[in-house]
Amino acid sequence: MARTKIAAVLRDGQPGTTVDVRGWVRTKRESKGDFAFLELNDGSCFANLQVVVDGKLPDYATLIKQITTGASVAIDGEIVASPGKGQRVEVRATALRLLGTADSTTYPLQKKGHSFEFLREKAHLRPRTNTFGAMARVRNALCYAIHEFFQDRGFLYVHTPIITTSDCEGAGQQFQVTTLDIAKAGSGLRAKGSGTEKKNPDAADPASSSVTQPLALSPQPSIDYSTDFFGKKAGLTVSGQLEGEAFACAVGDVYTFGPTFRAENSNTTRHLAEFWMVEPEMPFYELEDDMALAEDFVRTIIRKVMERCPDDLQFFNDRIEPTLLESLKNIVDHDFIRLTYTAAVEILQQSGQKFEYPVEWGHDLQSEHERYLTETHFKQPVILTDYPRAIKSFYMRCNEDGKTVRAMDVLVPRIGEIIGGSQREERYDVLVERMKECGLNPDDYWWYLELRKYGTVPHAGFGLGLERTLQLITGMVNIRDCIPFPRVPGSAEF
Ligand code: ATP
Ligand code: MN
Repeated sequence: MARTKIAAVLRDGQPGTTVDVRGWVRTKRESKGDFAFLELNDGSCFANLQVVVDGKLPDYATLIKQITTGASVAIDGEIVASPGKGQRVEVRATALRLLGTADSTTYPLQKKGHSFEFLREKAHLRPRTNTFGAMARVRNALCYAIHEFFQDRGFLYVHTPIITTSDCEGAGQQFQVTTLDIAKAGSGLRAKGSGTEKKNPDAADPASSSVTQPLALSPQPSIDYSTDFFGKKAGLTVSGQLEGEAFACAVGDVYTFGPTFRAENSNTTRHLAEFWMVEPEMPFYELEDDMALAEDFVRTIIRKVMERCPDDLQFFNDRIEPTLLESLKNIVDHDFIRLTYTAAVEILQQSGQKFEYPVEWGHDLQSEHERYLTETHFKQPVILTDYPRAIKSFYMRCNEDGKTVRAMDVLVPRIGEIIGGSQREERYDVLVERMKECGLNPDDYWWYLELRKYGTVPHAGFGLGLERTLQLITGMVNIRDCIPFPRVPGSAEF
């Protein structure tokens, strides 16, 4: 007999037919040696399958003693209509095999109701809990909906590099990738920093020969990256956008969807060092088109997940965030508010609200400001546009006012920013000037500039953080609980 998944048994199983089901025991209830009830879960759906084990089965007494929470079992049985509430059918076991025990004195998930902090230390086992099983299924449904959204609209899925030599944001948040000997580079750093260590015996080494330079001028060892693996300083990508633009300006609408890395040392509930980002890029789009796509995108993917994971979302609503389903429905059913950054600043300044960080034109909005707009003022997602150019990236198209750029951020309740996007600067000369204004060397971006030199077109795009979207959809407070194995400062154990 072939194994049947529990989701299929609960959905389609006909009383009177036989099945082979396998999974992990969530709970066991024994009733006076005659019967035992097992709640079996195999991850295929939120619900457990109730299995009734008859005391007359061979080896019943020995087996049932060893079957504790967390044990894995294989069961042949008959599907019967369930007399109990909450499930249509259950299984009456005709054969029971213990696949693996889970010692009840040491199994970390023996008891229910562990804190999320505790479960983060058990990232290899937490998928076996209700919350993290549900998260895995919702994440899967979300990724499917994302691909479906773009594929339905004729976008090409392109893979942009993970290792790159261009820091898209120019914000110095890149993890470095190198095959150089760190121990050696480190000693170079100390030699220069302290000025007291002996000179490296390898006098020809340019990293150590600069030891006489004034301290202030050489905070970093002058490492010769031409000898490094890529012949240049390289790092893990902070965004696939620049490479995505190359394809958008050739094959039309594209999207990248992959891991993204930022070494920002921010211990917040909204930042990971490794996260997944979806980045569409569209030629011939201006900012309005970009916003329309972003709004359609967010509303569509949420609606699809609501349709496909009703049980999981009901659980998050019941156990994590009581306003969840209501707030998701509100997002799906209503148009997003659109206003300029400048108008938002005025609203915030006139709100009478006391913020930890004061609101001032020209400063980036903090999460508390974004949440005030979406939760208190508008009670809906908001798209802010035309941010001050001084706080936005070099590639965003400059407005005629000389003060703002064609940026747009999508802000949502409970989280703040989930999308950052813009119309891109397609004018060669303006882009070169903007790079200089941002302290970047245009020579480092020669290939990006060539996209403007040869057949430039207006274009736009945005980036959506997958895990922030999962925070929105599940109501989970901490982004570390929205990715299977979180990478954050000081932690990459699993
Ligand atoms: P924030 O200001 O909130 O740190 P950002 O402006 O640096 O975000 P962008 O560069 O605009 O972020 O990236 C696009 C999207 O990627 C963001 O809207 C967010 O959803 C997501 N994102 C950015 N940084 C992180 C991170 N460290 N962890 C998880 N998601 C992130
Ligand atoms: Mn942003």
